[in-house]
Amino acid sequence: MPRATAASPTPEVADAVRCLRAGGLVAFPTETVYGLGANARDPRAVARIFAAKGRPADHPLIVHVAEAAQIRDWAAEVPALAWQLAEAFWPGPLTLILRRRPEVPDAVTGGLDTVALRVPAHPLAQALLSAFGDGVAAPSANRYGRVSPTCAAHVHEELGTAVDRLLDGGPCAVGIESTIVDLSQGSLRLLRPGAVTAAQLADALGQPLDASTSAPATRAPGSDASHYAPAARVLLASTDTAEALVRQRLAQGERVGLLASAAPPGLPETVHCLTLPESDDGQARELYARLREADHRDLTTVVAVLPPATGLGLALADRLRRAAGLGQSFDAPPDSSALELSDGP
Ligand code: AMP
Ligand code: MG
Repeated sequence: MPRATAASPTPEVADAVRCLRAGGLVAFPTETVYGLGANARDPRAVARIFAAKGRPADHPLIVHVAEAAQIRDWAAEVPALAWQLAEAFWPGPLTLILRRRPEVPDAVTGGLDTVALRVPAHPLAQALLSAFGDGVAAPSANRYGRVSPTCAAHVHEELGTAVDRLLDGGPCAVGIESTIVDLSQGSLRLLRPGAVTAAQLADALGQPLDASTSAPATRAPGSDASHYAPAARVLLASTDTAEALVRQRLAQGERVGLLASAAPPGLPETVHCLTLPESDDGQARELYARLREADHRDLTTVVAVLPPATGLGLALADRLRRAAGLGQSFDAPPDSSALELSDGP
């Protein structure tokens, strides 16, 4: 098997690069979820992403690059904090919002004066990006508002022939979208919780995050109350309330699923168990596949047990709230009252 390197990409990667250069759409795996990529310098190619997804045009996209040094090609200012976080977490599931260079197409930034940047870790994403040599704008490879794809079959299910090339890199290791941190205002602001936790960010910075530097009052652009949603209605529950909620919905004639790591004993047999692993990283990895399973089983209601909103649980709870159409309303982790959290998908 030929190895994909910048010097000698595999035929599949070389073909995907040609497709990007010709203005095509390439779906590719990252460690978070599958992305729908286009040449970020080509506004017409980027417009095709929005058309394929049915996504509103003012929602900004994340620009993916192979290595941290390339952020200079996109960002007008790169504060020391950005290099510090890049050093600690790239390649990996962290997105940085920086002030953009003027030539970055508005189609990518939604007309904002900032740009979102990430260096993904997945080897196939790395191979694609290093062979392409420039930025690839990519949102998740799903129809707008729907659950993000965590394997190639999900991409096919969502977008079918709207995708010109689909690189299959197996199931995603992380399974939920990247953590987004805004550094464009001279301070750090967490816009979207993800696999890189608030505690890890504070650790990397070697200091608690400063409350006064992060006071978001606005929603992150492109964030929506309802997002990451299956067709079934999602109801949030605690371990204590899940059983009663399941019984109530079954009594109303609904097809009910229970999304939890452990089903309470004595549940009626008619409930569909959408079982998640015990560990929070296992839950992140499988969450979207279980929500898709709910649709495949034609469930009308999913009762989801919320994890404790700390560490990775914060990101899981955020995605579950969005799946329930409740938007982002995650609580700050108890150990970082300093960290202020704003909306962000
Ligand atoms: P996704 O929706 O997973 O494609 O991730 C893109 C998200 O990143 C957007 O919906 C925004 O919330 C956020 N984002 C991207 N670019 C920017 C930007 N320039 N400023 C603020 N947030 C951004
Ligand atoms: Mg998305």
